[in-house]
Amino acid sequence: MTEPTQLGPEAIAAALDELLEVGRTAVSAGLAQASGGNLSVRTGADQMYVSGKGTWLNRLEHSQFATMTLDGRVTAGAVPSSEWKLHGAIYAARPEARAVIHVHPQYSLLLTALGKRIRFITQDHAFYVGSYGQTKYYTNGSDALAETAAAELAGGAHDVVVLGNHGIAACGTSVESAFRVALNFEEAAIMTYRALLLGDEATEFPAEELAILKHH
Ligand SMILES: [Zn+2]
Repeated sequence: MTEPTQLGPEAIAAALDELLEVGRTAVSAGLAQASGGNLSVRTGADQMYVSGKGTWLNRLEHSQFATMTLDGRVTAGAVPSSEWKLHGAIYAARPEARAVIHVHPQYSLLLTALGKRIRFITQDHAFYVGSYGQTKYYTNGSDALAETAAAELAGGAHDVVVLGNHGIAACGTSVESAFRVALNFEEAAIMTYRALLLGDEATEFPAEELAILKHH
């Protein structure tokens, strides 16, 4: 995996525009409420832009992002979210990752809190997500949360991890791909929830078909 090259100002502004759109869509899709969740884009080998402390995802502006190194040195912009360590640790564990979407989606959180496994039932769920990691609850913003979450994603084992009783973090090689994982994951959780209400405990996308999909 190649380390990301440093983006110029125009590419950074375009990436932030994408994150603003993700923030609006995430809130309207029910993936986050109020000041919950935070977003980042990796703009260089050791540079990321993380949404600021206390910001609301559907009201983000470029000036509300912190420019910082992966280990927390802020070089410009706003005060970062207290969850910046989660973003830095994921970029360190996934050199190809360009974006991290951290949101608090209710169905993913409810099912995992109840000890229910989220199932991938549709082709989109199986193909774009396919698997997920999980951590127990750790204090918001802690080293333990960042390190255990990043370990779940390390080496491409998964592209999304559930942070117990808290939220999810999804990564991707673009803002779009990271957000696609987050959206499909919560949809899989909603569908699993509905399947459980109907008394179904087992249905999922056929494994043999997934093997074929992955070779296309
Ligand atoms: Zn959070």
